[in-house]
Amino acid sequence: MKTGLIWYRNDLRVNDHYGLCGARKNCDRLFAVYCFNPKNFKNNKHGFKKTEKFRAQFLIETIQNLQKNLKELNIGLFVYLDEPYKVIPSLVNKYEVKELFYQEEWTSEEFQETKFLKANLPSSIRYTSSYQQFLIEPSLIPYKDFNEIPEIFTKFRHKVEKDWCVSEASPKIKMFPKENFISTNTAVPALQDLGLSCFTVDSRTAFPFKGGEEEANKRLQYYLWETNLIASYKETRNGLIGKDYSSKLSAWLANGSISAKTIYWEIKRYEKEQTKNNSTYWLIFELLWRDYFKYISLKHQSSIFQLNGISNKKLIWNRDSIVFKQWISGNTEEPFVNANMNEIANTGFMSNRGRQNVNSYWAKELKQDWRVGAAYFESLLIDYDVHSNWGNWMYNSGVGNDPRDRKFNITSQADRYDPESNYQKLWLSK
Ligand SMILES: Cc1cc2nc3c(=O)[nH]c(=O)nc-3n(C[C@H](O)[C@H](O)[C@H](O)COP(=O)(O)OP(=O)(O)OC[C@H]3O[C@@H](n4cnc5c(N)ncnc54)[C@H](O)[C@@H]3O)c2cc1C
Repeated sequence: MKTGLIWYRNDLRVNDHYGLCGARKNCDRLFAVYCFNPKNFKNNKHGFKKTEKFRAQFLIETIQNLQKNLKELNIGLFVYLDEPYKVIPSLVNKYEVKELFYQEEWTSEEFQETKFLKANLPSSIRYTSSYQQFLIEPSLIPYKDFNEIPEIFTKFRHKVEKDWCVSEASPKIKMFPKENFISTNTAVPALQDLGLSCFTVDSRTAFPFKGGEEEANKRLQYYLWETNLIASYKETRNGLIGKDYSSKLSAWLANGSISAKTIYWEIKRYEKEQTKNNSTYWLIFELLWRDYFKYISLKHQSSIFQLNGISNKKLIWNRDSIVFKQWISGNTEEPFVNANMNEIANTGFMSNRGRQNVNSYWAKELKQDWRVGAAYFESLLIDYDVHSNWGNWMYNSGVGNDPRDRKFNITSQADRYDPESNYQKLWLSK
């Protein structure tokens, strides 16, 4: 009997999953493992948690849903609060695993995680990995080498759009035989186990959703078929209040509860059967931005975390802890910035418009080390994605891919996007 193991990372779903499809073909029995890596819940060098309660709670819900969905396919999911290299080798030995399936992650911490794990596994094991976090995966982009990825998004988009190449989402696999089910006795940790405090969801939140693949699919159905909100996305996407001004798919995309391909093909079906317009295109356009930042990080590797970014511009940066405290607690001179900073502190979410403004203010107005701002976002965001976060932060801080190096005029942004100050009233009142 050939046994396979899926090591889950940011691919927390059962649909459109290369590992599951490969394992269904190659293996007689399969089980899975997910590790809450303690390193991700410690304090970072700035003194705040690397992962705060909002994303941790979302992740807990995601894993609970994954465990349930896998069980329906007769796949047991082991869950640990430990580093992968410490727990996976004994599972591999105990169940005589022949093949390990996993999603490639290339940023430094995740790369180390993979390296340590492999160093502790028997040399006989076969590895099958994939880049299933992309809309257009590396083997399908019109570039032979990551070094050829242009520094300007529009150039990338034009080339990719010339010859669209999105592969079909793979179908859900058939269940494994019941008699081959490996039952697991590990519990999904609670927030307290991760050193985080419980909280009640703020009623003002624009992201009142739960984690998990089922919730992701519900949201997709809601945003397209139930409400047709997608058909006016281009007009509403700069909104600030409520759950419907944009798709809110980012958090599920970030941990892989839903694939970008699934969203793409559902939009294509919607365009065929319902409406095709600038808005439906624009959501796909945004998914290309998401891919673009992944390719930029593949190309530039750890430079995305460096002070000079990928631009190598030597700008003057300051590090003032009082200025930082004022920024994160919504006590700057700009009410629009303050409102946004209050929103993220209370909910773990902020609109794209808000993110651009508070980033620009922090890096270009206050001239503070942009990486501290990015690390704060990393801590709080429900939808944190290493490439999108650090890529956007570089972009808005003048050390990334913005060819125009824009600085936001916060007052005129507030006038334009919050003309009645409704958003500011919402987040500046106690
Ligand atoms: C400083 C800063 C930090 C950011 N950090 C993150 C992050 O950690 N994780 C994250 O997913 N997005 C990040 N973004 C991008 C963007 O703000 C969010 O993806 C978006 O606000 C999420 O809401 P939505 O799902 O409703 O987006 P929608 O407007 O509905 O867009 C659909 C999807 O397209 C993708 N997308 C949209 N805009 C961008 C963008 N600028 N860059 C990359 N992908 C995009 C997202 O996956 C999003 O879910 C950041 C932007 C800025 C300016």
